[in-house]
Amino acid sequence: MSVESVVQAVYLVAAVLFVLSLAGLSKQETARRGVLLGMTGMGLALVATIALALDRSERPVGVTAALILFVLLVGAAVGTWRARTVEMTQMPELIALLHSFVGAAAVLVGFGSYLTDPGSGGSTGGADGAGGTVHLVEVFLGVLIGAVTFTGSVVAFGKLSARLRSSPLLLPGRNWLNLAALVACGALLWWFLTAGESGLVPLLLMTLVALALGWHLVAAIGGGDMPVVVSMLNSYSGWAAAAAGFMLGNDLLIITGALVGSSGAILSYLMCRAMNRSFVSVILGGYGTGTGVVAQGAPAEQGTYRETTALEVADRLTAARSVIVVPGYGMAVAKAQYPVADLVARLTARGTTVRFGIHPVAGRLPGHMNVLLAEAKVPYDQVLGMDEINDDFGDTDVVLVIGANDTVNPAAQDDPASPIAGMPVLEVWEAREVVVFKRSMATGYAGVQNPLFFRENTAMLFGDAKDQVELIVQAL
Ligand code: NDP
Repeated sequence: MSVESVVQAVYLVAAVLFVLSLAGLSKQETARRGVLLGMTGMGLALVATIALALDRSERPVGVTAALILFVLLVGAAVGTWRARTVEMTQMPELIALLHSFVGAAAVLVGFGSYLTDPGSGGSTGGADGAGGTVHLVEVFLGVLIGAVTFTGSVVAFGKLSARLRSSPLLLPGRNWLNLAALVACGALLWWFLTAGESGLVPLLLMTLVALALGWHLVAAIGGGDMPVVVSMLNSYSGWAAAAAGFMLGNDLLIITGALVGSSGAILSYLMCRAMNRSFVSVILGGYGTGTGVVAQGAPAEQGTYRETTALEVADRLTAARSVIVVPGYGMAVAKAQYPVADLVARLTARGTTVRFGIHPVAGRLPGHMNVLLAEAKVPYDQVLGMDEINDDFGDTDVVLVIGANDTVNPAAQDDPASPIAGMPVLEVWEAREVVVFKRSMATGYAGVQNPLFFRENTAMLFGDAKDQVELIVQAL
């Protein structure tokens, strides 16, 4: 049996493992198994690909092996270091950065593939004319998608890590600019296909246009729409990988890229639905501009608010029969999930009904809160989604809003002029008493003030969420 056929068989097994991995990841109970299946598939794919590279090597096998080992060691060392040191709150930035690597890889593979065999286009005619044209289109599209993914992900990284402002960049006629870039790419494709061996110029020009397009597309999206951007770039990175698979003639890369591309697209759709936004309006950007520039962190006071203390909250909790905890980005920043899990376990042991209410875009990453709570070993059956819990707030004695802000903002329902108008939110104000844990009156990610803080049944507990929850646990 040839190395080639064994490798193809291993690729098939790896592809099945990737599908099973995704199936496992769709439920918290099976997520660990899903990750293990994915890791096994990726391990098999790596071994098979290295075997194939060594088999096809035109250099002495030892040299190829040494080169592969070298890049593997560098990649594994950097990857292990980052994975060990990254804070949970930096996860979205890291993911955005990793997406940019996929984009850059697709661009490099495209150029590599073209420079190795520049004349394989239709213009050279002959028997391989049609196949050559197909390959050239693959190269062009691969570089195009890769370049858009690259700069788009770099901008997303900048916005998520607060290196760039999260507010949308609004150039005049921005949709026309995007359209002009796409038309220019179409014209450059025509030039590229008919240029014969001198196609490098249109390829380079298109790369510049695509880099600018990716930058502009994501820069124009801001405020609360960033969750969709993260999952959209996830999808783009999948299509970039699939395009690289076509260029390299690697079936597994095509399958994997298509899995990532389509699951990212489905996730983007689900996130849009959760935020009551149409996909097209998100892509076209400019969200949060209805009331002017989105000013992150700028407080705009709306009346008086009431302060409370950890001791008082402990008293209320002791008297309460039902409690709902609504976590948000601030819980991740404060790493409060461990004391929160402790608090909930104590209250549950006393016979209080305690549940978590999770908004689909809470935190800075799809599933962010679920991951944190799973890390703190909160039982899965206590963790409910927005749709499952929203009707229950009316029958609840105390709601603890721990570092959440935009996701519990009643203005999304009451104020059509609000930049987050229409986004479904957790209706925490329906409860008898709401306690909001945060450090100041500053706004959340979308940069809009929250009328919840000024309601009669709301009390503010200022300070770091972890410290405050620990004080409550002590008082209990
Ligand atoms: P928000 O970002 O709206 O608010 C977080 C709050 O936490 C802030 O008001 C902040 O107030 C408080 N906070 C920060 N640090 C601490 C701390 N150490 N202790 C106590 N409080 C703290 O959070 P939400 O989770 O409600 O909403 C998520 C937002 O992020 C939405 O707008 C969403 O669209 C967006 N987003 C979501 C993504 C996703 O995929 N989930 C991706 C990108 C963006 P203060 O500074 O006063 O303490």
